[in-house]
Amino acid sequence: MAVPLLDVSRQHAPLRNAFDTAYDRVMHSGRFIFGPEMEAFEREIADHLEVPHAVSLSSGTDALLVAMMALGIGPGDEVLCPAFTFFGTAGAIVRLGATPVWVDVLPETFNIDLGDAAGKVGSATKAILPVHLFGQPCDMDCLAGFATKHNLIVIEDAAQAIGARYGGQRVGSFGAFGAFSFYPTKNLGAFGDAGLLTTADDGLAERARRLRNHGMHPKYHHSVVGGNFRMDALQAALLRVKLPHLESYHASRRAHAAFYNAALSGIEGLALPMVHGGMESVWNQYTLRVRGDRRDALREHLAAAGVGTEIYYPLPLHEQPCFAGVGRGGESLAVSAELARSVLSIPVFPELTDGERAEVVGGIHRFFEEAD
Ligand SMILES: *Cc1c(COP(=O)(O)O)cnc(C)c1O
Repeated sequence: MAVPLLDVSRQHAPLRNAFDTAYDRVMHSGRFIFGPEMEAFEREIADHLEVPHAVSLSSGTDALLVAMMALGIGPGDEVLCPAFTFFGTAGAIVRLGATPVWVDVLPETFNIDLGDAAGKVGSATKAILPVHLFGQPCDMDCLAGFATKHNLIVIEDAAQAIGARYGGQRVGSFGAFGAFSFYPTKNLGAFGDAGLLTTADDGLAERARRLRNHGMHPKYHHSVVGGNFRMDALQAALLRVKLPHLESYHASRRAHAAFYNAALSGIEGLALPMVHGGMESVWNQYTLRVRGDRRDALREHLAAAGVGTEIYYPLPLHEQPCFAGVGRGGESLAVSAELARSVLSIPVFPELTDGERAEVVGGIHRFFEEAD
């Protein structure tokens, strides 16, 4: 039996009629940019994420970009950024002419290591960009303490962690901004690109709203240079169909993760992902660490059995060719380098069947039995 890493069509099939209705509504309204669908979506998602303001945007990447533009981050400013994350996190920093300071991550949670950050923070450091990687919240108590101590702005990259909670509180509501992505592989996936910023600050929300529309206010008057960072009304309408189901999608991912935690425990060659107390992961990925340089062999073994896997991420950011000579802190990132060699993400999408996840586990057990 082939098991895909992800199959969004299974999620969409039962909602087919609701999508058709939403599509027709937008088509007949003639409002394809801004308008009632976008406003309704922003209200609904702000409620869901328990934040005062939600600003819909063209992508998660643009959400990070607009957040830093609204905060005035630019040349001469440093931003603490984990070296082990998706490229877009750091790309946004560099595109604004700011300097990324590469920070290592914790091996058990894949999230930013504040011990390492403490040794790298400097007088030009203006912000810290924690990423709630794979759906797992960062330790936001420690992070808030660190940011206060060093007078840093916090921008949360919550692209993979919509709905996750730390100490009962939703991610994206801790920092000056929370940035979200509706890229189709994320827990709430759109039908194309879309993103979001959340904030509790009225002024920052207003600035982000202007920046997404060329800094325009009032009409055809521009006090700042923004861009076109708007979400399509069609994406808003389709996301409104999926949002009420998001908690049930998370619940299914959690059940799969619990199954894997039990079924894969005790395998010598594996370290399983850990969720620390007070954190609720939404399991965008279930990511194993494979010991002893056998990650690629396990991946090939599973591929031969028809099981889809992916390596998030094979190269730490400070080693990316485009970042050669960019930023600082790249000398001491042992954990990021080690994770790039050892991580393997296995299928954890909500609609995965019991039979499929048993197949994944069986394939992994066979690999380690044959190897022994
Ligand atoms: C997906 C993702 C982004 C970018 O979101 P897009 O919507 O694809 O632009 C940024 N950061 C992280 C951690 C992501 O996973």
